[in-house]
Amino acid sequence: MKLYYNRTKIVATMGPASAKKEVLLAMIKAGVNICRLNFSHGKAQDHKAVIDTIREINAEYKTNVGILADLQGPKIRIGLVKDGGINLVNKTRINITTHELIGDDNQIYITYPTFPQDVQPDEIILLDDGKIQMRVIETNRQDTVVCEVVHGGILTSRKGVNLPNTKVSIPSLTEEDLENLQYALDWDVDWVGLSFVRTGQDILELKKIIAESGKAAKVIAKVEKPEAIDNIDEIIAATDGVMVARGDLGVEMPLEEVPLLQKMIARKCREASKPVIVATQMLESMITTPRPTRAEVNDVANSVLDGADAVMLSGETSVGEFPVIVIETMAKIIRNVEDLGYPFNANKDANTDSSSPDYLSDAVCGSAVYLAEHTNAVGIVSMTTSGYTAFEISSYRPKAGTFIFTANKHLLNALSLLWGVRTFYYDRDESTDQTISDVNAILKAANLISEGDVVINTASVPISKKAKTNMLKVTVID
Ligand code: PEP
Repeated sequence: MKLYYNRTKIVATMGPASAKKEVLLAMIKAGVNICRLNFSHGKAQDHKAVIDTIREINAEYKTNVGILADLQGPKIRIGLVKDGGINLVNKTRINITTHELIGDDNQIYITYPTFPQDVQPDEIILLDDGKIQMRVIETNRQDTVVCEVVHGGILTSRKGVNLPNTKVSIPSLTEEDLENLQYALDWDVDWVGLSFVRTGQDILELKKIIAESGKAAKVIAKVEKPEAIDNIDEIIAATDGVMVARGDLGVEMPLEEVPLLQKMIARKCREASKPVIVATQMLESMITTPRPTRAEVNDVANSVLDGADAVMLSGETSVGEFPVIVIETMAKIIRNVEDLGYPFNANKDANTDSSSPDYLSDAVCGSAVYLAEHTNAVGIVSMTTSGYTAFEISSYRPKAGTFIFTANKHLLNALSLLWGVRTFYYDRDESTDQTISDVNAILKAANLISEGDVVINTASVPISKKAKTNMLKVTVID
């Protein structure tokens, strides 16, 4: 069967390299589905211009590119250091203080006011993505922690700190996050990402704030801490989607565990019908060269095989020299795996809990995928108001295209993150027969289906009640 489009989605991080409209348009034409705004960098207001550009492109070119606002979360950093960098020598001692100062060989500042109270002797402190390692010798439990350098090196200003063994007491949403979240919600972003999530409660708190603001943004839990791995089931249950944030995860956890953690998280997310993004260093060498390494190509292909809904680019598209070529490269790698029939119709256990409110609609969605496979259908064409049907059908990874029609404008771009999902706006209040005829005609006009093709239509009948999906129809397009 001909594949009309890549099923695995591409998330591209925005930055100076991708800010110009013509560059962003070329990236979107090459395959970007979601643009990520990284609130760890720059001022919140700086992201508004790129949001406007994405929306201009969506309006002019009828694309449905979604926006993910990625909040920094409780990221810990050291302060400024003198002379642009200090040399930390193995086996020497250095104080970490909670008083703001310019760091030197004797002491450095940490942006974590309760660090001396939270840390214990022998715990590990990793600086600059784990390149420098220290061990806690003692803490005065007030303002100073004495450390020994285990693996030294040159430490420059404002580098990130990871504390894999420490129970960090900083709230999951910092004051800065709350401010940035307000901007993101005012701008009606489609997804909000939260960094350094530790528990399902972190996600529920974020969701509560979003709901109280009357906004529809969905939430991505960035999994990058050992505590998040321990609590992965409750985090997946609470969130709308997950990011395997391999940058920090590979610092906080033993690096060699990351590949299997990625597979475990991808499997659990698909079982729970929650989209999963695999992120960081996917085509890292393409920041400065136009061709990736063989290992990077393998990484993207294997992430597709692992069942990622989306693969993500960071520096490659935010500051890299080849933002369009990198998208073309990623899209080609994805297509090559998918053209061989992977990872379609992945096994997924049906929902057998007959007391679950979704039990019947889950059965209809699962049956739609089964029926599509057995009729060689080119599309599963579904109506949704909440988006639930899209999440559910996508999780079965159908070979047929997943064409989702909705009158809920908030979903049009948000659902672009989901594996295989293409969205269309439809708000006519018609009979079931007329609605099915209309949506199929829209797909035919878009050259996504043609005369003689089989499609599976799903809806909730009666259509006007906007209930859960309860109907399946096999349609031969005339
Ligand atoms: C990561 O750590 O892999 C990640 C995606 O987070 P950030 O880019 O915000 O550090």
